[in-house]
Amino acid sequence: MEDLKYQIDLLTAMNERLMASEHIYRAISEFNGYLYIYKDYRTQTAELIGPWDEAVGEKISTIPYDERYLLNLLHDEDMKAYTESIYEMEHHHETEAKVELRTKTKFNWIEIEAKMVYDEDGSPIEKIIAIRDITKRRSQNDEIAYLAYNDSLTGLYNRNYFVRRLQDMCEQAAVEKVGVELLFLDIDDFKKINDSIGLLFGDELVQGFSLILKEFQSDNMIVGRFGSDVFIIAIYNPHGQRSADHIYKTVRDRLREPYVLTNKTEVHYTVSAGVAEFPEAGKNALDLIKNAEIVLSKAKESGKNRICFFEYEILQDFVKSVSMEQKLKDTIEKEGFVIYFQPQFESETGKLRGAEALLRWPDEHGQFITSPGEFIPIAERNGTIIPIGAWVMKETLKIMNNWRMRFRLPLVVAINISAIQLEKDNFVDYVQSLLQMYEFDPGSLELEITETAFINDYDVVIDRINVLRKLGVKIALDDFGTGFSSLSYLKNMPIDILKIDRTFVDSAITDSSAGIITRAVVDMAGQLGLKTVAEGVETQAQQNFMNTIGCDYIQGYLTGKPMSKTDFEKLIIRQLP
Ligand code: C2E
Ligand code: CA
Ligand code: CA
Repeated sequence: MEDLKYQIDLLTAMNERLMASEHIYRAISEFNGYLYIYKDYRTQTAELIGPWDEAVGEKISTIPYDERYLLNLLHDEDMKAYTESIYEMEHHHETEAKVELRTKTKFNWIEIEAKMVYDEDGSPIEKIIAIRDITKRRSQNDEIAYLAYNDSLTGLYNRNYFVRRLQDMCEQAAVEKVGVELLFLDIDDFKKINDSIGLLFGDELVQGFSLILKEFQSDNMIVGRFGSDVFIIAIYNPHGQRSADHIYKTVRDRLREPYVLTNKTEVHYTVSAGVAEFPEAGKNALDLIKNAEIVLSKAKESGKNRICFFEYEILQDFVKSVSMEQKLKDTIEKEGFVIYFQPQFESETGKLRGAEALLRWPDEHGQFITSPGEFIPIAERNGTIIPIGAWVMKETLKIMNNWRMRFRLPLVVAINISAIQLEKDNFVDYVQSLLQMYEFDPGSLELEITETAFINDYDVVIDRINVLRKLGVKIALDDFGTGFSSLSYLKNMPIDILKIDRTFVDSAITDSSAGIITRAVVDMAGQLGLKTVAEGVETQAQQNFMNTIGCDYIQGYLTGKPMSKTDFEKLIIRQLP
């Protein structure tokens, strides 16, 4: 009997023990954690479960557990947070608590999660503490937080965060009645630099540049990266050394030295800048940014490597050009443009040589909306020049082809080509396809380009021009005398014709030294085998002068204004033998 009782007691005890551990393990599995402490208040014992020895680097699983041990593992500054959260839980009879804390080794983070079980009277029965290593997650979080504010390449503020900070600045400036200057900086020709040094080194260059800008970062100046090569600085209450103008000058000074890449390549580059100031140029961050960007584009257009400040006119021009962009698009869509023809005559014989095709933009009543001198630059800026230019060429050759069939006169046509058109890869193919389509003699097609075509992508443009010249197409250099073209420069230009600008023709007879220069230009062009066209000839005196110095062709109001195709047809008919 005694034996049986003993057996039952033993079984009960084992069962209880089993149930208890099962209970612990079930609770623990809910945590799915790493290290555990199980405290039983009834027996006043604590147990360590999990690879403790490994985690703390000493053999502790066998020593009697003391809750203070955990405290000793924590970073001094975080001990309090732990005791408080546990105290909170126990004091308020709560069943759960969770804290993230640093360990003694400072850079390691753990999460401590505690669960309590109470009896009906509210006395604690058991406590399970789960400890998980969250160092990795914490560092990722830190990184995410960092990326939320900073640009990953340069470490400068990113766009979003910068805008928020700028908005705060503006609001404070409104209260304190001071200004905020916003400076946009953009690396000139960054795309070209990138193409030549490669994307990776392009990134390096951007990083290098951002280091210069970082130096300006202070309490009342914030620096951000806005786009691939666009940077932005906001200056609170600017004056003296702390002003957009001064910063720009400092940056420019620094850029006088070339930047040396890790592969030892030296890169020389410049930056353009646009400045808008709160509150004059914008009442909030977004308006200010928008306007500074517009001013920046103005700096770019007017030749780069310079700083432009906000003016109301710049904004007006911009608004005008935006509304014009849509109108231009609509006009291309409905083929609303027309071609006018201005006759060119042989200077010696007075014979009709051909015409320059000039674009006109009529409204529904046939009145011209604006002159190409105004809308072509806008079309170049917004890219609509591509479809417009393609249409001009096609329409002109179509008309010329019609005249050629009907009048059997060998007429030359000159078509103005924008640099942007030449930069398009398919330009040569397009010209060639039109020549084929209209069976047009390439030698009767003249493409007028200005020096600006040679500034960007010089080699590519020269190659394309040479392909066209091989086909027999003639190239005319337009507006000679207005740019920086020098005579020595002419020598290496792949051109056939020189168009002497109206200003040259004009001053040639009023100013004797200008006359000498004009004569020298025509002489030299002749020696280089180029033909010359005098543009904008308005008076008989001008024509006589150009004739005397040996200019080949005359074009101007004197001999014929640009005219409609119907009028030009009449002119051809008068010329017929
Ligand atoms: P441009 O190529 O220098 O064209 C000559 C301009 O001078 C024309 O102005 C013409 O009307 C004007 N002109 C001709 N003779 C005289 C004269 O005796 N006196 C004066 N005061 N002016 C004269 P337009 O047609 O207004 O064209 C202005 C500019 O627009 C052109 O200058 C050209 O750069 C551009 N353009 C015109 N049509 C096209 C085109 O189809 N494509 C491209 N890309 N540009 C074009
Ligand atoms: Ca022209
Ligand atoms: Ca011209």
